[in-house]
Amino acid sequence: MKGDKRAVIVICDSLRADLIGPEDTPFLFELSARATRFTAHRSVFPSTTRASSASIATGCLPARHGLYGNTMALDEGEGLVCRNVGAPDFRDRMRRATGRTLRVPTLAERLRWHGEAAIVCSNVSPGAAYFQDPDGHGFVYHSAGSYGPGMTPIDDPGSAALKKGIAGDKAMTERFCADVLEGRAPALAVMWLSEPDYTGHHSPLGSPQHREAIRAADACVRRVFETVRRLDPSGDDVLFVTGSDHGMETISEAIDVTGLLIAGGLKASRDSTDVVVAPQGTSATIFFSEAARGRAPAVAEFLRRENWAGRVVVGEELATVGLPTDTALQVAAAMATDARVNPHGVAGYGAIVANPDDPESKIGFGQHGGLGVNEQNPFLIAAGGGFVPRSEARPTSLIDIAPTVLRHLRMDHDDTDGKALPLST
Ligand SMILES: [Zn+2]
Repeated sequence: MKGDKRAVIVICDSLRADLIGPEDTPFLFELSARATRFTAHRSVFPSTTRASSASIATGCLPARHGLYGNTMALDEGEGLVCRNVGAPDFRDRMRRATGRTLRVPTLAERLRWHGEAAIVCSNVSPGAAYFQDPDGHGFVYHSAGSYGPGMTPIDDPGSAALKKGIAGDKAMTERFCADVLEGRAPALAVMWLSEPDYTGHHSPLGSPQHREAIRAADACVRRVFETVRRLDPSGDDVLFVTGSDHGMETISEAIDVTGLLIAGGLKASRDSTDVVVAPQGTSATIFFSEAARGRAPAVAEFLRRENWAGRVVVGEELATVGLPTDTALQVAAAMATDARVNPHGVAGYGAIVANPDDPESKIGFGQHGGLGVNEQNPFLIAAGGGFVPRSEARPTSLIDIAPTVLRHLRMDHDDTDGKALPLST
């Protein structure tokens, strides 16, 4: 590469900042003391992995980048239908329905403008992986299919063999360190671990299984950091950023929002295209056809009367949670959360929006997507690249990561929603 400046980002999906401690995350705990730890770091809304991935990649809120959650209603010619953003073909559906994928450039695209490459290795859903670089400006490695510049498919059996969970994350980390960081040394290397999200969705937060997954993620971050420091002992050239995309709450109950709207006379039927609920874990985004748009205030009013509902926004209020006001998405509802403590000592409960595509009960396990204090509590640590050991209490967000990387790489970063993280007090 032209300069000697590089950046490395490692995301531990779903790791709550308050679960970082000496016992389960000895490395992150130690790193917090010798790097800058951002103690008021927040997720975006919906606090889902796919919207978060696009926000980390673009430095913009969903209102600007255009990906509104883990699911989204699209009109592909037969009215609004809820689609799973995680599916490998979602990008193509989105392009067909809206003419494009993300509406603002990703880090991968910005680097390409400068003749530099971004390499992304991800072990979460295909959608979350691909929205790091949906139009193929750099390289994305994922089990559902890897590609390089120009969306050229890459036959990569090592990535194809990866499975979500501890073993897959560990295998990806070894390849990331050896092949990407040491072998190819791109200007930007991003690694996205599936843990502790994968285990958190299938076991109680704070349970032995969940804690094992947290320890495994911590060991992966250590492995990457040690590789980075071996390549750049002073820390001057390689900016190292590690964090999570969101936290989790424990699920108390599942709410059939679609069924309630039908019963309330606000939606015609399960499959109707007038009003379409897109489940986002602990929140819902609700899309309206042109003809049904006038119903949005009544839907918001109806939801606000439910005891499981937390913040409900409609129309112009969507801007206050970082969502657009001028699309078919006209109502967003976050579930109410409370501070009850689960059997393993982890605080925070909230309801989940029932998802017909994922009917398995997740009650008692971890979930996210809304505005609860724990799901909105990801961690963030920056080391090297001028970040000194200290704790920063000013509020930061996922959207601040991209401009921080661009500043370090000496590229323009004044057109993102986020701001480059402060280097000193
Ligand atoms: Zn996530």
